[in-house]
Amino acid sequence: MRLRNIRGAREAMLESPYVIDAPEQWKGRWAELFGNSNPIQIEVGMGKGRFITSLAEGNPDINYIGIEKYSSVLLRALQRREEGELHNLYYLRLDAEALPEIFAPEEVDRIYLNFSDPWPKDRHAKRRLTSPQFFQRYDRILKKHGLVEFKTDNQELFDFSLASVEEAGWILKASTRDLHHDGLLNEGNVMTEYEARFSAEGKAICKLIAYRKR
Ligand code: SAM
Repeated sequence: MRLRNIRGAREAMLESPYVIDAPEQWKGRWAELFGNSNPIQIEVGMGKGRFITSLAEGNPDINYIGIEKYSSVLLRALQRREEGELHNLYYLRLDAEALPEIFAPEEVDRIYLNFSDPWPKDRHAKRRLTSPQFFQRYDRILKKHGLVEFKTDNQELFDFSLASVEEAGWILKASTRDLHHDGLLNEGNVMTEYEARFSAEGKAICKLIAYRKR
């Protein structure tokens, strides 16, 4: 089922204290919202939120913000969020293109991109969340040596993303084309919804970790 049009999704979000309305007002002040100066990590395109909720549960000293473009998908994450008591997780309904309007330079410690939409047509390459254009946006909000971590099952998108890292002037810290059999990179791996589904189908999962040369 396409989830984009679930009735009441927008209303449910407007009422929830966990979905931040007008997030640009917190630019440079996210620490105030969380009430502490712990590192802030974001997931862009979080889908139903399994990954970021698990991280927030397991790491109470890190602040998390899950970002999702569509209300109806975000509503699923919200339902999961409301099942547990978490002081360190908020959500934004936002297109990732707006990230530099929402976070100040150096405000974000790490960015997770999981199973991002591949946008297979060349003319849509700029929309891929691992395009050089998106790396430039990440650069404007990440702190020095802050990481981008990207997972996908899509080999073509992975090739494109490795090339983007270089083109954008970033440094590849680590990469694998078979995460679940990589002793080092798989340690502490938290599965996303898509990852669980694809690996159950026998697909290998690719992962890269990159940071910006400064
Ligand atoms: N990360 C989840 C996972 O691994 O299970 C969901 C993966 S799903 C293929 C990609 C998600 O990214 C979708 O929910 C989509 O709506 C969201 N998305 C795509 N482009 C986006 C953008 N520009 N800004 C925010 N979210 C986006």
